Amino acid sequence: MSTPPGFRPFAGQRIAVVGLGRAGLPAARRLAEWGAEITAWDDGATQREAAEREGLSVRDPAAGAFAFDALLLSPGIPHRMPRAHPAAARARAAGVPILCDVEFLFRAVRAAGSPARFIGVTGTNGKSTTTALIHHLLRGAGRVAEVGGNLGPPALGLNILGAEGYYTLEMSSYMLERIASIRFNSAVMLNLSADHLDRHGSMAGYAAAKAEIFARQEPADLAVLGQDDAATRALAATVRARLLPISGIARVEGGLWAEDGMLRDEDGAIADLRDAPALPGSHNAQNAAAAAAVVRDLGLSAGEIAAGLALFPGLPHRLERVGTLGGVSFVNDSKATNADSAARALASYDRVVWIAGGLAKDGGIESLAPLFPRIARAVLIGRDAPMLAATLAAQGVPHEIAGTLDEAVPAAAAAARSGAAPVVLLSPACASFDQFSGFDARGDRFRALVQQILSDDMGRAA
Ligand code: ADP
Repeated sequence: MSTPPGFRPFAGQRIAVVGLGRAGLPAARRLAEWGAEITAWDDGATQREAAEREGLSVRDPAAGAFAFDALLLSPGIPHRMPRAHPAAARARAAGVPILCDVEFLFRAVRAAGSPARFIGVTGTNGKSTTTALIHHLLRGAGRVAEVGGNLGPPALGLNILGAEGYYTLEMSSYMLERIASIRFNSAVMLNLSADHLDRHGSMAGYAAAKAEIFARQEPADLAVLGQDDAATRALAATVRARLLPISGIARVEGGLWAEDGMLRDEDGAIADLRDAPALPGSHNAQNAAAAAAVVRDLGLSAGEIAAGLALFPGLPHRLERVGTLGGVSFVNDSKATNADSAARALASYDRVVWIAGGLAKDGGIESLAPLFPRIARAVLIGRDAPMLAATLAAQGVPHEIAGTLDEAVPAAAAAARSGAAPVVLLSPACASFDQFSGFDARGDRFRALVQQILSDDMGRAA
């Protein structure tokens, strides 16, 4: 649906937009097009200059009178803890709502008279995968759909959809603290473990922020709730919508679950997850169960779900298979910036050559010891390689320090191809900032190095 000419749902509203990054700048632009009086601000001069070049009015909303109807605050900027940004402090003192871009998307869609459905996905882990998977399944079944939020395109960069449309939105806890009127027709809460407690104060505060995904739902709506941890199960009490429990590990009565690699509900088998190469491991079984629960409720058949799961390409940097050579698969799991995530990856394969290292988190890789028998050889990179080497040495795991990824990938490939393991896994268990601008740059470099090995091999074969 294209918006009617002169569509100005925010005409006359004074909106301060603070944080002009990946989502903030397009948001300011869109809201201005839609009639709002925008005051844009970022603490960084480069971002302010970009906004000025676009003709936006740039001024610090925290200076002078605070005369705004709303503050659109980038999710990365705190409004309470650890320390409120000055603009957020002013908004709170003045009783002005602090909102995220998804809230404005919802308002615009409804102002356009569209009843398009909103699907919200949250949880501590697996949000991006589940969001992308729901969208992929809907698109595969021919539905009109858009995807965004915390993942991919910013919410205010999406098209306005008509009655037949579906928005699948990844909602971080930071965003869920900044919604006011949005009602999710389908809401997913995957799992909860301690995270971001500096911003939410406590586990209770974090769970309360997450539970906002169910706020304003009505009995006709759907609430998909993970059953694999106690903190998530406890949220059942906050749900008013139809509750659909899901599990990635065991049968749940009246729900949808994965068991022995099969997705099932009370009506029988839905899909064989062994046919879904981009969704390895029990954590992905949880994501697949949640996605299937949402789309099954929206009328997709078991056949459509099975076909969609099999064709899901996965997300970059999350157990992404980037190439295969002589029976060895190369897997990019650069997003695993802590031991917890690397544990999921290691548990997904029986035997690997493991590339790890960078800036280790507290506790290093000690917690991975039960998975060490799966490691045929570890090839270590980055600042904390010596520390990781010491942990591995103590447990008798074969390893070497390669230093850089450029050194590590050929070394790991040679070890795997000489019979050590069928998988080369980059799952660093560490942050990347000692050698890269972020986990995505690290994963991109891995992919390029693997491609180099594949093309060298083809050159030899030719
Ligand atoms: P998020 O968007 O919540 O950060 P992603 O889908 O990007 O989650 O996955 C990030 C990493 O988290 C994955 O590489 C994997 O290691 C782990 N992960 C994914 N899904 C789950 C899950 N359901 N439970 C636990 N860990 C998961």
